[in-house]
Amino acid sequence: MFARALHDVLQRLDNAARQASRPTPDLLAVSKLQSATAVSQLAQAGQRAFGENYVQEALAKQAELVGLPLEWHLIGHLQSNKAREAAEHFDWVQTVDREKLVLALARYRRDDQSPLNVLIQVNIDDETSKHGCRPEQAAGLAAAIADQPRLRLRGLMAIPAPVPDDARRRAAFARMRQLFESLRATHSDIDTLSMGMSDDCELAIAEGATMVRVGTALFGQRAAKAGAPDR
Ligand SMILES: *Cc1c(COP(=O)(O)O)cnc(C)c1O
Repeated sequence: MFARALHDVLQRLDNAARQASRPTPDLLAVSKLQSATAVSQLAQAGQRAFGENYVQEALAKQAELVGLPLEWHLIGHLQSNKAREAAEHFDWVQTVDREKLVLALARYRRDDQSPLNVLIQVNIDDETSKHGCRPEQAAGLAAAIADQPRLRLRGLMAIPAPVPDDARRRAAFARMRQLFESLRATHSDIDTLSMGMSDDCELAIAEGATMVRVGTALFGQRAAKAGAPDR
């Protein structure tokens, strides 16, 4: 059922990458507030990596889909009291923004699991959001993550302010790429810059996104979740 939408999104990513002379980014399908059935249909169409915002919702879906070889990314704000479930049940956590969370995730990632892939969420321009570290804090957090054998630092993630002005959004993506490059001078094996969503992934790709997180363009509109804004 979602094969056509997936094909169209992959085409968009290819076109944007070609125009920018950059490699095609990885696609993370954002399945928050979508059913397990929808996830399994997209998986049948060939999509493997899925992003979820809410830990409990993700665990329920994972339970319905056990056996499918999917890769789960947490992309919503993570409270410390959910760190254990996040560490045990996700392959990636993209929203690490404070040292307390680094320590909690490292403590709870089990020894029989491969290291948890971690992105540092940076608040690049959105004064209205409490989430994400300040750009100047990223290097310190990266050092703290690199110290933890149960965690693997993969790069940076951002959700720029949803301003209508393309030039401003693009400037925020460009600042993220600069931060990513400067971090790579110290952490040479980081490989992931996660930015861009359904309506701005082309801008993000033009500025060097290696992973885009797309929900609406794949699944259609989400049902609203009371009391839980999605950004
Ligand atoms: C919901 C969400 C997305 C996807 O947004 P769409 O506009 O539906 O593509 C991407 N990233 C994060 C962090 C989200 O919460």
